[in-house]
Amino acid sequence: MGISFNQVSHIYPGIKRGQGVVAIKDIKLNIKSENEFICVVGQTGSGKSTLVQHMNGLLLPTEGSINIFDNVITSNKRKNPKLKPIRKKVGFVFQFPEYQLFEETVLKDIIFAPKIFGMKEAEAIDKAKKVAKELRIDEDILKKSPFNLSGGQMRKVAIAGILAYEPEILLLDEPTRGLDPQGQNEIMEIFYNRFKETKKSMVVITHDMDLVYKYATRVIVMKDEKLFFDGTPKEVFASNVYKDGHLSKPSVLKLIDHLNSKLNLNLSYDFNDEDELLAFLGGGVNE
Ligand code: ADP
Ligand code: MG
Repeated sequence: MGISFNQVSHIYPGIKRGQGVVAIKDIKLNIKSENEFICVVGQTGSGKSTLVQHMNGLLLPTEGSINIFDNVITSNKRKNPKLKPIRKKVGFVFQFPEYQLFEETVLKDIIFAPKIFGMKEAEAIDKAKKVAKELRIDEDILKKSPFNLSGGQMRKVAIAGILAYEPEILLLDEPTRGLDPQGQNEIMEIFYNRFKETKKSMVVITHDMDLVYKYATRVIVMKDEKLFFDGTPKEVFASNVYKDGHLSKPSVLKLIDHLNSKLNLNLSYDFNDEDELLAFLGGGVNE
């Protein structure tokens, strides 16, 4: 069970006939509902957002079909299954999700989507409180207006509204963009902890290769509308794939390269981040 793409292409209509933009082309892809922490990477305009928006029926394919938990979606709107249950199963966190906050209190904002998906108010409030705890949103913030919060807090509130209806798979379009480094780490750690606890798969679009190297079980590299590479982080960065895909190298690997060449060492790429490398080299990280 999960999501599978069968030769999917998407063309955005142009103003004039025949002037459409091919955003993704001939995509074949399988995503399991469990045990996958997938990062989707690639240059701006390579088709990442378009690809991921097909995973819960936000966009319909122009060609090909997508199977989402046994619901088959094609370009034929009339024959397609109902999309609401699919969107409940596969949650989507947009870029800058805080722009969609609108309720007068944080709690009301968090329970908005769960209620749309049929949850009773009392249960939604219960879930909201649980998720708020998980995201380290203080209980007294729940009564406040979301518009008085910091950017990082607002983002967490917006994400809480999606987590509260407990989707089977979570899609995130650049969830750390625009946050300070501390906020970025906090958000990614929250997602990764959720992944480790629930085993529910996640698909994260990101430009941050440090995050990719630290967290991803699988990396999908998009290039010129095509799925250019699908494999492990190590396969991407220990080969020329990252260069061909116009990706930067994770800082831990740059450091390893540097140490290996300057000090004639033979360190492997088996360190997920700089902290792990420094701990190995004997310097305590927080000492
Ligand atoms: P990415 O997320 O990797 O930056 P996108 O999926 O947003 O890539 O875009 C892929 C291609 O589709 C780009 O050429 C982009 O300009 C185009 N595109 C994206 N959204 C639209 C839209 N709503 N209408 C027309 N063209 C679009
Ligand atoms: Mg995008």
